[in-house]
Amino acid sequence: MSILIVLLSAPGLELYMSKIHKLAPEEARKIAAGEVAERPANVVKELVENSLDAGATEVSLFIEDGGKKLIRIVDNGFGMSKEDAYLCIEHHATSKITSVNDLATITTFGFRGEALSSISAVCKMTLSTKEADKDVGISLTIKGGSVVDESVKALNTGTDIALADLFYNVPARQKFLKSKETEWRAIVQLFHAFCLSYKGVTFKLSHNGRQIYTIPQAESLEARISQIFEPALKRTILLAEAKHEKMGLSLTVACSPSDYTRFDRSQIFCFVNNRWVKNYKLAQALIKGYQGMLPPQKYPAGVLFITLDAEFVDINIHPRKEEVQFLHPRIIQGLIEQTVKDKLEESQQKLFRPAQPIFHQQKQPVVQQPVKEITPLPFITKPEIPPKETPTLESQDAFLKAVTPYFSEEQAPMPEQQQLIVNDINYRLIGQVHTTYILIEIEKSLVYIDQHAAHERIMYERLKAQFEAVARVRLLFPQAIHLTKSDIDLLEPHFDLLSDFGITAQRTSDTELVISETPLFVKNQSLDDCIKQAIAVLHEHQYLDKSELQKIIQERIHALLSCKAAVKAGDTLSQEEMNNLINELYSIKNKLTCPHGRPTIWEFKINDLEKKFKRDYR
Ligand code: ADP
Ligand code: MG
Repeated sequence: MSILIVLLSAPGLELYMSKIHKLAPEEARKIAAGEVAERPANVVKELVENSLDAGATEVSLFIEDGGKKLIRIVDNGFGMSKEDAYLCIEHHATSKITSVNDLATITTFGFRGEALSSISAVCKMTLSTKEADKDVGISLTIKGGSVVDESVKALNTGTDIALADLFYNVPARQKFLKSKETEWRAIVQLFHAFCLSYKGVTFKLSHNGRQIYTIPQAESLEARISQIFEPALKRTILLAEAKHEKMGLSLTVACSPSDYTRFDRSQIFCFVNNRWVKNYKLAQALIKGYQGMLPPQKYPAGVLFITLDAEFVDINIHPRKEEVQFLHPRIIQGLIEQTVKDKLEESQQKLFRPAQPIFHQQKQPVVQQPVKEITPLPFITKPEIPPKETPTLESQDAFLKAVTPYFSEEQAPMPEQQQLIVNDINYRLIGQVHTTYILIEIEKSLVYIDQHAAHERIMYERLKAQFEAVARVRLLFPQAIHLTKSDIDLLEPHFDLLSDFGITAQRTSDTELVISETPLFVKNQSLDDCIKQAIAVLHEHQYLDKSELQKIIQERIHALLSCKAAVKAGDTLSQEEMNNLINELYSIKNKLTCPHGRPTIWEFKINDLEKKFKRDYR
């Protein structure tokens, strides 16, 4: 492989006027560098493309400070000879074309021979490279674009280019670099794009000495997607293909199912003729395919590969080829949208099992609950119209009546009295879903309640209220608890904390405690766990003062006990139990999360339902 110098410049202009002068070559190169690379990610892109052009199957990147301090790339490609290593940093030095006529048939990323020459002018570079048939390689130290040192070295086949202090000699450009974090994010995004378009290559990426990604060769696109986005996507990712014969176009779409969402578009990648392009309209077409399936402001993950005849696309509208222009953009966008839509629909049909009931039928009529004192709910306001005239409830009844025969063999009579007036809340119990959630209708919402999380919160609040006036019971049979010596050593000085909590403990040996009194509400079998929880808190927070420790221990023990006492997911609840739970939940503080911070309630607005069914037009 040898590098030729392609002379593209016009014959020299004679300059007579003093206002115009020719830029010194190093200055011209610095300016050219700015066109090739504005930021570290652009440099990384040029380097990775060179490695791929050199047939590498392993590419490792080492980045420091978002690429501002160091960008190093190591590949196992075919390497360069000594002569080529010298030539590659010359202007218009390329091994990829010999004349402009070759442009039509080019298959490599690079061809202008500009990148290394201009990048080497604006950083401190070392280039080490060895060809497969040579015993030794060459290592060059380059500063400001000129070789300042050369040594012969034993090297692995391939190329290793490290460049430090990007734009150190172009302060104007250095000033415009974004923060390290922003530059790093741009590199990660680029790295993902290369991983997606070269699944047969092993890629590695490290930042500030930490290995962040190790992406081995993948046998399929699904596998590659799951390697970089999320493992779960491997099973659920949807794959579809489409063609447009006249443009010689083939489209491959790999996209997430409708229940996988992201807050941004950072997991949408588009490739045109295997180049990563930033084309808003293509990404938008993919998103449009999900219309009505994703909540507002949520985005899918998806990868689009488009290959088409060169005459239908212009890849040269951007100096770094990051943007493309299509001759028929609408046709392509429409094809993407339709392909995604069809695929999503097909996948939904697979999930649909019309013979199975969606939720448990109500077996008995709902009874009126006693009215309790209550604090108003933050998200529920008092209904303005009398409950019986609430149209949504009536239509819901009608709906239930209409669908009942399809969902249940034994037809439950529809309850006459379905309205409940509880503590200013007007709710209707629909039933238990998946023996895990309670579904109710309130105002203009459907509300799912996680029965375990909700009950946990209720129990926790009860325990907390009782703790204020702790009542102890003397155990008929004192309970022995066995622990390690070091744990008891840790706990012993804090027995008074346990005592505040209603637990009277005594050490009877190196490894044994005996509990003689417990609070009224602590069941015997939970004592062991309570003590262990207290020890865990002490391990974690040894240096806190007593009152803080007590608070944490108390919270943990309450959370533990309430978790143990609460109904579990999978427990079947009666109507009465569900109603009691709902009423109590709505009467306590902190009702929106369980003691561990998980949500207890998920509210689904009828409005969203209407949007879904396209009834929201006015
Ligand atoms: P271009 O890629 O447009 O040819 P570059 O300036 O990026 O221009 O690279 C110049 C030349 O250096 C390439 O044509 C190639 O011959 C050689 N080269 C650069 N990087 C590598 C590499 N990682 N492995 C082997 N050869 C390389
Ligand atoms: Mg190149």
